[in-house]
Order: sequence, then structure tokens, then C-alpha cells
Amino acid sequence: MAVDSHPKVRIALVPGDGIGGEIMGATLDLLQAAGVNEHVEFVTVEMGREVFEKGNTRGMTDQAMATVEDCGILFKGPMETPKGGGGKSINVTARKIWNAFANLRHFQSLPGVSTVYSQAGIPVNFYIVRENIEDTYGGIEYRHTNDVIQGKRLTSAPGCDQVHRFAFQTARRMGLKKVHCGHKANIMKMTDGLFLERFRVVAKDFPEIETADVIVDALCMNLVLRPQQYQMIILPNLQGDIVSDLAAGLVGGLGFAPSANIGRHISIFEAVHGTAPDIAGRGIANPTSLILSGLMMLRHIGLMRQAAMIENAVLCALEEGVRTGDFGDQGRPALATADFTRAIIDRLGKTPRSGKGSPVPAEGTQDKPTFVKPPRPIHQEVIRTYLNVVSHVCGCDVYLDTALSPIAVAEEMTRAAADTPFKLTLISNRGTQVWPTGSIYTECVDYYRVRFEIKDGVRPGDFGQSRTIALLNRIAEKFTVGSYELLRTFDGVKGYSMAQGQ
Ligand code: NAD
Repeated sequence: MAVDSHPKVRIALVPGDGIGGEIMGATLDLLQAAGVNEHVEFVTVEMGREVFEKGNTRGMTDQAMATVEDCGILFKGPMETPKGGGGKSINVTARKIWNAFANLRHFQSLPGVSTVYSQAGIPVNFYIVRENIEDTYGGIEYRHTNDVIQGKRLTSAPGCDQVHRFAFQTARRMGLKKVHCGHKANIMKMTDGLFLERFRVVAKDFPEIETADVIVDALCMNLVLRPQQYQMIILPNLQGDIVSDLAAGLVGGLGFAPSANIGRHISIFEAVHGTAPDIAGRGIANPTSLILSGLMMLRHIGLMRQAAMIENAVLCALEEGVRTGDFGDQGRPALATADFTRAIIDRLGKTPRSGKGSPVPAEGTQDKPTFVKPPRPIHQEVIRTYLNVVSHVCGCDVYLDTALSPIAVAEEMTRAAADTPFKLTLISNRGTQVWPTGSIYTECVDYYRVRFEIKDGVRPGDFGQSRTIALLNRIAEKFTVGSYELLRTFDGVKGYSMAQGQ
């Protein structure tokens, strides 16, 4: 009996819903054929539709959570999110609870996958690193009035730092020369402004890498016009989500775009497409996205040789026109999922003619796991970037449910602020100033922001938050207050935005 000189890496496995079982089965067959199972033990856990159907609104059992946390790696097929009913996406939940803060996706033209760029001879080969857990993906939303719903968008300095540092480290490891930061900081000056500011700070630790920033709308146009100018783009969560799908379109669709969600302790590797309910159960799904994501996972744990062999076999098969029904030369027969996978297995050990693919490390090198799971944290950590900042209260914004006119709101609020340290300085509606000045053409809805700032002669820091609460109580005697935001300075700089038109 062979003596196992190294322990196997345990990987939690979820086949997924819909086509999940079919493409995961195919992918595992391929990994096994490449000798991966010598070094890896897959532990199947329960997540997704069946768990939701048993009334578990989180979509994963406690046992599944414990296993993923114990393994530190989750390999998953697509999972269905129940429509309506308040159930959150299990895919987003998994990324967020386990702090898989960076979503890394590779977009590369593949042989046999015809696109307008491949036909024009334009090479596409770049990475997107998407911030994965902040931004609008908190899903923090409120109905504040009959007509208005608000979503909160959160951006933190440590959250930005984690994703920027991961991106630069990855770029350095891959020998990339230039990294772009995509953003919308011209409009979201504080949230995306922070994302960009931290990009610039972290970039200083990687002086050999050239950097640039690009506004996300211009980025979309540039990607379509000249995708070859990009090597790596870092983006906030929602923008990254949208731009990633645009990028997938450049290389032939979601079926060819692998995805890794990397965290400090736990990482998740998954296909980016969904459960394809329209073709589920027919054995015709394309497993390429999951296979390529599996390769990212093998490289994550150190099985470089096996990953390179599989990658080359996939490329050889694609070059030779091997295809499933969703892509490729319609003149050639479309293979079932299992036959497509068998064709790849048959090409293990071959080298692609196109010169793409990866050099395969010599036998006995880079073919053992190097992955060591970081120790389990003792408690939920609070991560911080800016320490010793001096902040002072200087007012508050109060959000009112009312259909009064701006003038009438101003009269009421001026009365409420009498005998307080505050004066009414601004009223806005949907972010646009409507008082003390504004345009008659600005239409209002039943939700106003009224801003109170300290009167002349009162200094920031002369009092604390309680005085703003006292003002709030006075307003709440007559109005329904939907929400309230404290206004503060941080090291003397205002920590709140101006209104449009202010
Ligand atoms: P989808 O990606 O499942 O399907 C869109 C289209 O692409 C369909 O026509 C489908 O047949 C085709 N397609 C997708 N993957 C394919 C493959 N591997 N081979 C061949 N064709 C493929 O998107 P959808 O229909 O919007 O979503 C269906 C379900 O998937 C929803 O419940 C959604 O919540 C879930 N979903 C899950 C994930 C994930 O787990 N990461 C991602 C997206 C959607």
C-alpha cells in the first residue's frame, strides 16, 4: 500500500441545482482522470434548492456551514435562488458570511469559440477583480414612504484595502504590467471616492505596476472598442458584476468565464452562469465554466501541474472543434456533457497547437498541495484602517415622509429648530436642492431630506449627538421621520456630501 506522505486537502462540494449535478459530475470525472483525487478529498454538503424547500431560509444546513468553515474551500455548481418571499441569494450569502471579498475572473479568447474579436484577430486576455461583499450587496433596503424606497450603499476603507491588495498581489504574481481602477467617483464622490483613494494608497506598495483609473461608463465603451488595452481592472461590487458580464460577452459568453471568490480564510470557486433550468436534466450543458473555475481552485491549492494539464487538454479539445450545443461551429456535431468531457480526458497530456495554454511543470514538481488553511479566528474580527481620527458632531439630516411643498416644509423645520444650536441649511428631494434655492421644474416626491447644521458661533464638538436627537424628537411630534443621519467632521473634513444644485 502506498504511504500517503501528505494529507489530502479537504474541499467542500456542492453540485448545485438545475444543470449543476451534470456539469459538476463531468468536472469531477476530469479532475479524477488528471490525478487530482490523490491529493484532494471532496466532501459533499447540502446547500441550495432542497435546503430552501425544507424551510431553511439561509439555504444551507448548519452541517454544511461547519464543513465549509473546516475545509476553507468550497467548490460549487450554480444554485437557485427562490424568487420573491424575501429569501436572499445563497450565492451572495456564501460570499458575504465567509468574507470572500475578492471575485477574480479571467476573460480570455479561447480557440474554437468564435467571437467578433477572434474573427477580427483582436486578442482578449484580461482579469477583473470585483469587490465582492460591500456596496449595494448588503441588500439594506427600506420603504420610507408610500412612494419611496431606499437602498444603502456601504463602502469601507478596510474592505477596499483587502480587495486592492489582493488584486495587486495577483497582478504581481502573474507579471501584469498595468492595473486599472474602474469607478464612478465623479458622481459618488464619497463612496467610490474612497474606493479610488484606497486604490492609490495600496498601489504605492507595488511600484513596478503602472496604474490608471477609469470611469465605469467609459470603461464599458473602451472594453468593447479596444479590449486588448486592459490587463486587470478592479471594480466596486455592482459595477464589477455588470462589467464582468460584459467582459464575458467579449469572449463568447458566461460559459467560458471562470470565477474565484477569494477570502482570507475561505475561498469559493464556482461557475458564473446560473442553473439553466431550460436545459436541466437533458445532459447537454456545457461544463467549461465550472472546469475552468476548478482550474483556478487547483492553482489555489498548489496543484499547478494537474491544472496546466487539464487546461491544455481543454484548449486542445476546443481547437479541434469539440463542442456542446451552446457554442462553436454549427456544422459540427454537438456533444452531450459527458462526451464533451470524455473528449477532454482523452487529450490529457497533449499540448495545444495555438501556443495558448500553460507550460506543464515536470512530473514530481508543483503537483502536491501547498494549501494550508489559515487558523480559525477566535472571534469575529473588527478590521480597521483609519485610527486616531478626531470627529465632531456638526448637525444632522432628517428624512421626512411628507407631501407638503418645499416652502411649507422649510417653515415647519425653521420653527422646529428655534432655540436649538442648529439652523436649517438645506432641503433636498431625491438628492436635489429645493430650498433655499432651486428650480420650479424640479419635481418632488413624498420624501424630503432636511439638513440642520450648527449655528454661527457654535463650534463642531461643542456638544454631542444627544442635541440632534432632541431636535429629532421635536420634529417627530408632527412628522413621520423615515431616517436620520448624523453629520460629523473627521479631522476637520465634512463627512457628508452636498446636494445636487447646492
Ligand atoms: P442561466 O445562466 O441559468 O441561463 C441563461 C441562459 O444560458 C439559458 O438559456 C441557459 O440554458 C444558458 N446556459 C447557462 N449555463 C449554461 C451552460 N453551462 N451550458 C449551456 N447553456 C447554458 O441564468 P438564469 O436563467 O437567469 O437563472 C436561472 C437560475 O440560476 C436562477 O434561479 C438564478 O438565481 C440562478 N443563478 C445562479 C447563479 C450562481 O449560482 N452563481 C448565477 C446566476 C443565476
